[in-house]
This record gives sequence, C-alpha cells and structure tokens, in this order.
Amino acid sequence: MRLRTFSHGVHPAEAKITSDAKIRRFPFANELTVLLSQHIGRPAKAIVFKGQEVVRGERIAEADGRMSIPLFAPATGVVSEVGETINADGVMTPSITIKPFPASEQIVHHKKALDVDKLTPDELVSAIQNIGMVGLGGAAFTAHVKFSPPKDKTIETFIVNGCECEPYLTADHRVMLEHPEDVISGIKIILKITGADRAIIATESNKQDAADLLAEAAKDDERISVEVLKTKYPQGAEKLLTRALLGKDVPSGGLPADIGVVVSNVTTVAEIGALLPMGCGIIERVITISGQGVSKPGNFRVPIGTPLEFVLEKAGLNDQARQVIFGGPMMGKSVSYLGTPITEGVTSIVVLSESELAAGTGKIHACIQCAECVSSCPIHLNPSKLGRLARKSRFDEMVEEYNLFDCFECGSCSYVCPSHIPLVQMFRIAKKVVRSKASG
Ligand code: SF4
Ligand code: SF4
Repeated sequence: MRLRTFSHGVHPAEAKITSDAKIRRFPFANELTVLLSQHIGRPAKAIVFKGQEVVRGERIAEADGRMSIPLFAPATGVVSEVGETINADGVMTPSITIKPFPASEQIVHHKKALDVDKLTPDELVSAIQNIGMVGLGGAAFTAHVKFSPPKDKTIETFIVNGCECEPYLTADHRVMLEHPEDVISGIKIILKITGADRAIIATESNKQDAADLLAEAAKDDERISVEVLKTKYPQGAEKLLTRALLGKDVPSGGLPADIGVVVSNVTTVAEIGALLPMGCGIIERVITISGQGVSKPGNFRVPIGTPLEFVLEKAGLNDQARQVIFGGPMMGKSVSYLGTPITEGVTSIVVLSESELAAGTGKIHACIQCAECVSSCPIHLNPSKLGRLARKSRFDEMVEEYNLFDCFECGSCSYVCPSHIPLVQMFRIAKKVVRSKASG
C-alpha cells in the first residue's frame, strides 16, 4: 500500500539504535538546577529561598501570567541556590538549584488528584498550566496556550504527532510502546478542551509496532484513529502533517488553528494523560541518549535539572565523542557548556563521533546550481536563491520575495547540498538580523 506523505524532503540514515531500549529511570545527580525560563513565554518566579527544604513535586516557582508555567522540585532536598546558570544557548539565566537528600526517593508525594472528567474545558486548560506542561517535542511552547486557540477558530481535528522523524531519536517511539493508555487518556482530555471531533495519531512506517498498539488501545473510541505515514524527514513538521493527513495547507505566516487543526507531540499528550489526573507537576521527562560518542545509549526518564555532564558520565562518554547535541542532528542545538541542565524541551542528547560528524559536512564550495536544495525543500522555497541573497546581505528581499520566514529550519537543503553550503545556518542568521532591525 502506498503510504501518505508530503512532496520533497530527504532520507537521512535513521541511526535509531535505541528503538528497542526500554525506558529506564535515571539516578539523581548531586545537584539539580531548574531553569526558570525553559519554555517559550515569560520566566517563572521563584517562591523558595536558599536553605529551604523541598519535597519532590513541590512547587518551587510560580507562573508569571498566562504565557508562563510553574516549576516543581525534581527531588526532595534542600535549595542550595537561587541564582543564575548558563543555559544551552550559553546565556546566564535565573535558576533554582536543589541538593537532593542522600536517601531521596523517586516517589512523588506532593500531588493532588483531579477528577478530570468533571472539569470544564477552561478548567482543564488551567490544570495543564498548573502542572507546568510545555511541548515536549522540543519547541517548549506552553501547552495550555497551544490547546486553547482563539475563540473565533473552530478546531475540527487534533493531530497527535508521533512521527519522530529526526535520526537517532526514539523517546517518542518508546513512550507510544510503553504508555499507550496515557496517550489515549491525554487525547480524550485535549479533545474535550479543543472541541475537535476527531484525533489522528500520526506515526511513520518505521514505528508500525507502536501504531498497532495504539490502534488497539483506541479501538473503543471511534473519534481516535491511527495513520502510518511514509518514513521521511521532516514528516513531523506541523505543516507537513496537515498536508499529508488532510490535504490542507497552513497559510503562510499562519497556524494550524487557521485550518481547524491543533497538533501536539505524542509525549506531551502522554504526560498530560498521566500527570493531570494525579495532579502532579512535571519533574522529569523521557530522553534518548545516543550516538557513537556514548557507550551506553538508551532511553531514560531523567529528572528536570540534571546537569548534562552527569548524564554524559552515566551514559559512558567515550573518546570518540566530538560534538554534543540537544535534539537530533538535523534540527538540534550544539551544546558547548556541559554544566547546563536538562530542561523540559530536551528530547534527546546525541553525542556524535568524528565519522558521524563527517557525514554531510566538508569543505564549502561555490554553488553549482544543481537545484538539489530546491528539490529537497518540503515547503517549496528556493534555498539556492535565498542563500545567494544572504551572502549579499539582501535580507529584505529574502523576506519579501522569497518567504524567508516560512523556512522552519529543517536543514534538508544543507543536508543535500553537494557544495556543503551551510544554507540553514545562513537563514538563521538572516532571520536574526531582520528581527533585530524590526525591534530597533
Ligand atoms: S531549512 Fe528552510 S529552506 Fe532549507 S529545506 Fe528546510 S524549510 Fe526549506
Ligand atoms: S544544493 Fe547547493 S550547490 Fe546545489 S543549487 Fe543548492 S546551494 Fe547550490
């Protein structure tokens, strides 16, 4: 059977070496540092002081308004600092550091059960904000805002994104295999909030086992279906999902809600399904640790705030390690400060070796006008032209005539370029320049 997909895109080597690795718990580090800004929106406000004892799951920071989330103690222990820490972008950011007590257990005592069936849609939105949930697929957009689009938009379809199309990443796959009932519970909650008539769980053909399991788990609710799409990068992008599943395009500069759709990452949905009824804040997340630079790759439930260097030590950082990435190699972020803590938005830690890095990189040559980049761009931009304009700093033209801001930085064009031109990096810089000019 021909599987649905979008046009263009690329097929990087999957390298999903951890797809059979069951999720295991990670131990507590000596110190856990919770960043107050680990989401898109206003930073949370600390409500604890140095020396205060806290219980695992206890609220340690309050949301600062609607575009913010509260944060919770990832371990029982004592607050050792309310100060600043370097985040993954290398920027000092406000944080709370907790020293877990030596015998601190991983059971959460600080929770307040909720009867979610009795809550109204608005109360459910508040409850999602109260557990501090953000999009766990990497974007870290506040989940309660995403699930409550403007009142003038009618939502018909909720798409659950289980594509996990980046190479190496398998955390979503494992969550679907190990927690299908949480995915279904989360979907029912979000259907109630959004008023959507149906939910489609979308995954790729390399995760047929998860699709079968979820179809079985959803069989009693005719509103929920499962779609297996072709394995292709970047199938998990929101705009490509709506195109592949519904044949609808999100308008340029618009949101899925403009065409009656809400899209959410599957692990976010599963965590809502698990945490909301228990009234627990999010204090840990499932992460894939992979790449030739670690000797013990796998999928782990890691406490929020765990320092990266502790994760790498436990994962067996070896002498092949050359680059550490938060997220996948296509859209992830290279991290240079190993003391930076794990946040809700970290889907994976990929440690690449020299040979893994060499694939797709090399000496930069002049553009040979081969149009490979044009044929790979999933949203049909002209990366070659955009690249030429970027080199000449003609940023306004890039925006006005070649839709620079439609580029969602998937990296497909850079990946296929035989001249190794760093197109996506050039587009990121161009966007930054345009934004900083606009903000004066
Ligand atoms: S990085 Fe941007 S221009 Fe390049 S393929 Fe992806 S969406 Fe297209
Ligand atoms: S793929 Fe590279 S060499 Fe080919 S047209 Fe695009 S930018 Fe030029």
